[in-house]
Amino acid sequence: MSINTENNKIVAGELPDFIPARMLNEFIYCPRLFYMEWVQGEFVHNEYTLDGTFKHKNVDSEMPRIRKSKNDHAEENEEKYHTRSLMLSSPELGAISKIDFAEFTGNTVVPVEYKRGKIPEIEGGAWLNDQVQLCLQMLILRDNGFICDNGFIYFVDSKRRIEIERTAELEHLTVKSLEAMRSIVVKKKIPPPLEESGKCQKCSLVSICLPDETNLLKYSENLENVDKTKEIRRLYPARDDRIPLYIQAQGAFIGKEGDLVTIKSNGQKIQDVRIMDISQVNIMGNVQLSSQLLKILCLENIPVCYFTYGNWFYGITTGMSHKNVELRISQYELARDEFRSWSISRCFIEGKIRNSRTMLRRNARSIDKDILNRMNVSIHDAKNAQSLSSLLGIEGNAAHLYFSNFHKLLSQESNFDFTSRNRRPPRDPVNAMLSFLYAVLVKDITVILLSVGFDPFLGFYHQPRYGRPALALDLMEEFRSVIVDSVVITVLNTNQISRGDFVSIADTVTMKPEAKKKVIEAYEKRMNELIKHPIFGYSMSYRRIIETQARLLARYAMSEIEQYKAFVTR
Ligand code: SF4
Repeated sequence: MSINTENNKIVAGELPDFIPARMLNEFIYCPRLFYMEWVQGEFVHNEYTLDGTFKHKNVDSEMPRIRKSKNDHAEENEEKYHTRSLMLSSPELGAISKIDFAEFTGNTVVPVEYKRGKIPEIEGGAWLNDQVQLCLQMLILRDNGFICDNGFIYFVDSKRRIEIERTAELEHLTVKSLEAMRSIVVKKKIPPPLEESGKCQKCSLVSICLPDETNLLKYSENLENVDKTKEIRRLYPARDDRIPLYIQAQGAFIGKEGDLVTIKSNGQKIQDVRIMDISQVNIMGNVQLSSQLLKILCLENIPVCYFTYGNWFYGITTGMSHKNVELRISQYELARDEFRSWSISRCFIEGKIRNSRTMLRRNARSIDKDILNRMNVSIHDAKNAQSLSSLLGIEGNAAHLYFSNFHKLLSQESNFDFTSRNRRPPRDPVNAMLSFLYAVLVKDITVILLSVGFDPFLGFYHQPRYGRPALALDLMEEFRSVIVDSVVITVLNTNQISRGDFVSIADTVTMKPEAKKKVIEAYEKRMNELIKHPIFGYSMSYRRIIETQARLLARYAMSEIEQYKAFVTR
């Protein structure tokens, strides 16, 4: 991918001068997959791509070398040769391909393309995308002066090959598809998702593409009346099997031994974890990290997040993982578009007030109906706010109503009390826990936004300020009460935390390390909890829901869907 300027406008994503045959294969499989992978730079492995890579290993690892083949037909005078991994290009077609295996008889060449799996039980014995890829190889060979009228697709699991002829029809489709790819890239418009296609189940980018979800939102003019009868398939895992690693032991050292992250304190190993089981590393305070570990974490796209001892999230190290320049450009354009960025700000705040109200309605010991009614008015006002200052005022009023009733969420037997929200520094235990977990949630949302391809520092509601992850703060609004407040109330009401878990110095209250550990465990449990999505109807973890919201925000930023809708609980 490259960036150039066209009429002073930054343009992202161009095709290389020579289109790889593999890219054409993906275009035929699904034009959207091609666009996301080759123009937006998205790439994720799944079981099929990993298996394909593994099955190709033997072919790819061999250097191209001409070898003499056994001649099966003694009557043929011309000798046969073969080679593997032959890279050839055609300037006429603007295409390039690595040919897995090529058999030469004089000037005639027969290419063989290796594919994972068994011969599909379909007419012709090969998928169209594979046939077109092979046809392009035949055309490239022809343009290099060889005679090439047929080729084979070898199915590794069947150990058999299927012959494909270079028919006029297949050649036409191949050439026209190359033209169509170029045209899509010039238009800079992502193709729509396939509709109810079985291909999506095998697609490695399904969790990024969100085909059913995007189609549902695209065709729903009013998100209040989304067609709930339509079945939305959850095509990706409900939760991530990998877990975040938190290191709080002051003076600890973390390094790498083979495939393990090792944590040492005072020279003694206290824990080791497989790198493949980690989704992120969180350094809390004074902890050292080896450069060898940092390198592998960057290469594996595992972010390292840094907090001060006082819980301030101050930094993050990531690899050069995300290349979706197109999304960033759309994000900047959206931030400049007053109407659209304004409409999204209202969604964030409406979602925040709705979820705060639900929290009080469902969990408060007793709540005055008048409070709930006033919060309803705030929801209505947020939806219709006409300026940023009025939205700030509406949010402030709703937050005041919420936090002045927050103590009613604590059980009557609780040793803790809450009068008002205070921070920097927090002056009581409940505020200390809230501040700590809001910082952890901002960190998680920052990590998610980076993984989606956003710039977390450019928000729509929270205005840019040096060093402030404004977009993470925007997206956090709808999750504050359902995640952080809920965790704090749970640990207090179930006596997981006691007054002895806090230290008070002057006006500042902080948690002891053991208390932080308990609170983080409760937070991670909440993030892993499955919940039914209010629009899509399937269950997934809160962490996945945040990621899905971030991806839908990306679809909105790129004008694929008309509206963004905040996640709200009932
Ligand atoms: S999930 Fe489906 S629509 Fe989306 S890129 Fe993959 S195949 Fe195409």
